[in-house]
Amino acid sequence: MPDSALNTAEQYTPQPVKTNLLGLSVSKLGDFFEQLGEKRFRATQMVKWIHQMGERDFDKMTNLSKSLREKLHKSAEICLPEVVSCQDSSDGTRKWLIKVEGGSCIEMVYIPEKDRGTLCVSSQIGCALDCSFCATGKQGFNRDLSTAEIIGQLWIAAQSFDQFGTKSPRRVTNVVMMGMGEPLMNFDNVVDAMNIMLDDNGYGLSKRRVTLSTAGMVPEVDRLGDVSDVSLAISLHAPNDELRNELVPINRKYPLQSFVDSARRYLDKMPDNRRKITVEYTLIDKVNDRDEHARELSTLLRDLPCKINLIPFNPFPGSGYKKVTKVALGRFRDILHNDGYTVTVRTTRGDDIAAACGQLAGEVNDRTKRQQRYKKRLDEEQVSGQVSEQIVKIVGQ
Ligand code: SF4
Repeated sequence: MPDSALNTAEQYTPQPVKTNLLGLSVSKLGDFFEQLGEKRFRATQMVKWIHQMGERDFDKMTNLSKSLREKLHKSAEICLPEVVSCQDSSDGTRKWLIKVEGGSCIEMVYIPEKDRGTLCVSSQIGCALDCSFCATGKQGFNRDLSTAEIIGQLWIAAQSFDQFGTKSPRRVTNVVMMGMGEPLMNFDNVVDAMNIMLDDNGYGLSKRRVTLSTAGMVPEVDRLGDVSDVSLAISLHAPNDELRNELVPINRKYPLQSFVDSARRYLDKMPDNRRKITVEYTLIDKVNDRDEHARELSTLLRDLPCKINLIPFNPFPGSGYKKVTKVALGRFRDILHNDGYTVTVRTTRGDDIAAACGQLAGEVNDRTKRQQRYKKRLDEEQVSGQVSEQIVKIVGQ
């Protein structure tokens, strides 16, 4: 070995890997402090500092001793994903592009309403499920987000609205796990992040104000009912297996009836019997918006305590689908309504900044080649002059 190489090797001192405290729940922080030779109650203090006060500097955590702060400097950090951009829509919707480890970017959206402010949080970089009407699916998939990257999104929004350390009403009152990704495919990290959202020492959100939305991971719905009681939304989008196999491919593995049954079992596990499942149904012109689809849906959901949220499809380049007409939407809603269901229609928000439902794309370092195939199809369509400016955004060029 040449001398120079030896010298380099001798001079190299590996840096100790620091634990990122941002994504640790009270119980995991308790274990961390115990390993440091400290009392477990330090965990509660730390969660309050990070998630109620928004503090990241150990030196400003005045109820920790100097010696503990020194230990923390050596072994821990509070590390957030990086905000690349933040856009405001004319209707008050705000969208962030957030860079995570590895260089991919995810998106997060805040939707203000009269009586609440809802943050739509991402759980994965891209999505492996590839629903045919969803821009995220076209991006392919990179990896699951860590707990810190999930709860970090709420931290970033809270800071952006000056929510930390004040007694004034919070701007983020609700969280929906409905951004990029299928949350139940990232089960442990999502559950840990939701626990910090619900924790009174963390964000203190009520279980009714944290909603997890799934496209049909049946075994994980059952698992979720064993460890959590957040609100559950099921993304159906079709009233029969034939159509759903096309729109939501995970249906081939877990057919519609088994999905609806799992939602029923979830409700059965809840401590109170007033809870309802939210059923999400994206209405696409001439695909799933006919009267007979509404009737089929009504029959399918007959035994499920639920409310139905109709979402007019938000077009994006190359999707091949069109937005439902007002007439079809009205008829669909009325059929369900007349059958006794509570039906809401989701207003499209943040359309001008591509923040509406199903439009989140981010910048995914795709591992699936799906993005490549999608891009090729767009290129072909571009040649035939069918594609708008927004392609550039969706394919992340
Ligand atoms: S709709 Fe949800 S589950 Fe389906 S591809 Fe999009 S992000 Fe994934």
